[in-house]
Amino acid sequence: MTSPSWLDIAVQTPAHSGVGGLLSYRSPTPLAAGQLVRVPLGRREVLGVVWRVRPEAPSGIAPSAIKEITAVLDGIAPLDAQWLKLVQFSAQYYQRSIGEVALSALPPQLRDLNPTQLARRLKKLPAQAGPLQASRGHVLSGQQTTVLQHLAEQAGPFLLFGNTGSGKTEVYLQAVQSLLAADPRAQALLMVPEINLTPQLEARVQERFGREAVVSMHSGLTGAQRLKSWLAAHTGAARIVLGTRMAVFASMPQLQLIVVDEEHDPSYKQQEGARYSARDLAVYRGHLLGAKVVLGSATPSLESWHQSRPPDADGDPGGRYVRLHMPERVGAAALPQVRRVDMNHQARRAVLSAPLLATLQDRVAKGEQSMLLLNRRGYAPVLHCADCGWKSACKHCSAFRVFHKMDRTLRCHHCGFTDRVPRACPDCGNADIAPLGRGTEQLEEHLAELLADVKRPDGKPVRIARIDADTTRLKGALETQLAQVHSGEVDILVGTQMIAKGHDFRRITLVAAINPDSALFSSDFRAPERLFALLMQAAGRAGRAAGQGSPSEMLVQTFHPKHPLFDALKRHDYPAFAASELAERNAASLPPISHQALLRADARSQDVAQGFLSAARSALEDVLGRIPDGPQLLAQVSLYPTVPLSMQRVADVERAQMLLESPSRSDLHKVLTQLHALLHQLRSQPEHKGVIRWLVDVDPQAI
Ligand code: ADP
Ligand code: ZN
Ligand code: ZN
Repeated sequence: MTSPSWLDIAVQTPAHSGVGGLLSYRSPTPLAAGQLVRVPLGRREVLGVVWRVRPEAPSGIAPSAIKEITAVLDGIAPLDAQWLKLVQFSAQYYQRSIGEVALSALPPQLRDLNPTQLARRLKKLPAQAGPLQASRGHVLSGQQTTVLQHLAEQAGPFLLFGNTGSGKTEVYLQAVQSLLAADPRAQALLMVPEINLTPQLEARVQERFGREAVVSMHSGLTGAQRLKSWLAAHTGAARIVLGTRMAVFASMPQLQLIVVDEEHDPSYKQQEGARYSARDLAVYRGHLLGAKVVLGSATPSLESWHQSRPPDADGDPGGRYVRLHMPERVGAAALPQVRRVDMNHQARRAVLSAPLLATLQDRVAKGEQSMLLLNRRGYAPVLHCADCGWKSACKHCSAFRVFHKMDRTLRCHHCGFTDRVPRACPDCGNADIAPLGRGTEQLEEHLAELLADVKRPDGKPVRIARIDADTTRLKGALETQLAQVHSGEVDILVGTQMIAKGHDFRRITLVAAINPDSALFSSDFRAPERLFALLMQAAGRAGRAAGQGSPSEMLVQTFHPKHPLFDALKRHDYPAFAASELAERNAASLPPISHQALLRADARSQDVAQGFLSAARSALEDVLGRIPDGPQLLAQVSLYPTVPLSMQRVADVERAQMLLESPSRSDLHKVLTQLHALLHQLRSQPEHKGVIRWLVDVDPQAI
C-alpha cells in the first residue's frame, strides 16, 4: 500500500464560507499543487483544484473522516504556482473564498466533464503553434516608435496615454509581435472592455497573427468555445488571448505581456461575486510574473493617471507607473472642433437646437455621417399624468419604468418588470398621460420628422439608425448595424454610449451630445470623470479619416456652457481636466488619494439591512478597541454611517451600505479582515435572520 497524500483542495463553496475555505481530502497517489481533480462534496461530485499538499494528515480531524478524491484530470497539466498566487491574492484582496475565485476563473464546462470526456476535447485541440506567421503592420509614426522603444527598454507598468486615433492599437499589436517573434513560446494577453462592441478589433488581431494563434475569451462564447479557448491558452497552443475582464484569470504559462486597452472603462470591474478589478489584477499579475503591463487610454482613469504622476519638486517621488504620451493622431487627422450650444438661448424644450439641426442638414446633404449621443434608451424615461401627478413608478424598485413606444410597454430597467402602457391614468382615469423626458427611441422618431425633406446627394431620403441595448438584443444585430454604418448606408446614427466606444468609423464628421448635463451634478463623485471620458471618446469617433469631407465637429448641447468640464473638452485637454478633478478629490480625501470599501446588506426591509450594518459597525469598534493596533486602525480608517443605496430598492429588496475609507490601503484591509469574521458570526444571530445577503466591495466603482 502506498502512503496516501493529504491535500487542501479549492472547491466552489458558498459565497461566504470564509476567506481561505479550502477542504481536506486524501489521494491514494501523490499529486501536485495546481492539479485538477474531482472530489465528493456532500452528495455531489465537483471539480476541485489541489491547492496545497500536506506532509502529513491534518490535525484535528480523524484521518478516516477525510474523504478520498474521486478522479484526477491528468490530461491537463497542473495550474502553475503563479496562477494559484493570483487567485489567492484576489480572494484575499476582494474578501472572497479561494474556492469561489478559483472555480469561477475556470471555464464552466470544465466542471462537468469527466476525465474521458476531457481527453476527447484535448485530442481535438490544435497542436503546439509553430513559428508565428504575423503579417506586417503599419510603418510606425515617430511617436509610436518612441513608445515601442520605451516599452522594450523599461520595466513598467506603463500607462500609454494616447489620443483617440493616435495609433495605440497598432502599438499594442507591434509590441505583441516583437515579443512573440523573439520567443517562440511567449504568450500575450490583450484585454478589452467589451468584445461585442468591437468586432473590428478581433478581426484585426486575427488578421495580423493568424487565426490559430489567437483565442477569444468573453461571456458571449458558448461553453464549448470557452473551454476550447481556455485549453488552448493553458497548453500554450494559443499565443494570444483577446478577452474581457474574465481573461485576466486565463491560465497562460508563458505570459509575458498584458495589455489593458481603454483601461478607464468601468466594465473592467466585476459587479457580482468577487468584485475584482481586472485592470488592477492585471498590474498585480504582471508584477508577479515579471511580465510587462501596458494600460492604454485617451482618458485614463484618475487612479492610473495619479499612479503615473511624475515626481515633483516638493518631494513627491511620483507614481509607480511609467507614463508614455502619444498626442498626435495618425496621418493628419484632426480632432473635431468642439462647439458648445447654450440651450438657455434655444426654443424652450427643444430637443435639437437650431445650430445642431442646421449642421445635421448640411452633413446629410453632403453625404457625410453624423452621430448623436443620448445616454438613455427607450422612448421616455417616465410616463406622467398632469392631472393627478401619477408617474410610471416600478412597484418593485425605487425607480420609474421606462416607456418603450415600439411595443407600447412600460419596462423597469432594473428588475425587468414589464406591462402594457395603460390606456388611462391608473389613479385618476385621465386619458391624457404623456411621456416626460426623452430617450433614443424618441430622438430617432423626432429626427425622422424634422429631416423628412432632407435629401442625400443621391436624391434619396435621409437614413437614420439607432444602436442601443434594445436594438442589439438579437445575436449578430450589432455587427449588422455597425456594418451599415461603416458602409455608408446610414447618414445619422443615434445611440447610447455603445456607439461612443472604440469604433473606427471612417466617415463621421459630426458628433453631438444631446443632453449631457445630468452627470455634472450627480451625487456620484466619479460621474464627471465618466462623462468626460464618454465625450472625449465620442469626439474621437469624428474626423478619423484625414482630408475627407467637412472639417469635423462636435456639438455639445448644454445649459451650462461655462462649465470647466466642457472647457477642457473643447481644448481636448485631458491633463487639465484630470488636474482639476484630482485637486477636488484631494481636497475631499476621495480616491485615488484615499481608498474605499463598501459593506452592503440586502434585506426585505431597510431597518433589517441597516440594523445588520450598524451591528457590524459596533462589533467592529468593539474588537478594534481590544486588539493591540486596534486604536491606531480606528484612527486611520473612517467608518461612515449606514445609509440606503441611492437605488434603495430593487426587485423588492431593500439595500443599505456602509462606507469605509482610509488613506492607507493596508490599514483598510486589516479592518476588513476583522470585519469579515464578525459578519459571519452576526449573520447567524436570530435578530439578523432577515438579511438576504451581505457583500464587501473593495475599491467600489460607485458609492
Ligand atoms: P487608437 O487605438 O489610438 O484609437 P488605432 O491604432 O486604431 O488608434 O489607429 C487608428 C487608425 O490609424 C487605424 O485605422 C489604424 O489602422 C491606423 N494606423 C495606426 N497606426 C498607423 C501608422 N503608423 N500608419 C498608418 N496608419 C496607422
Ligand atoms: Zn392621473
Ligand atoms: Zn423594477
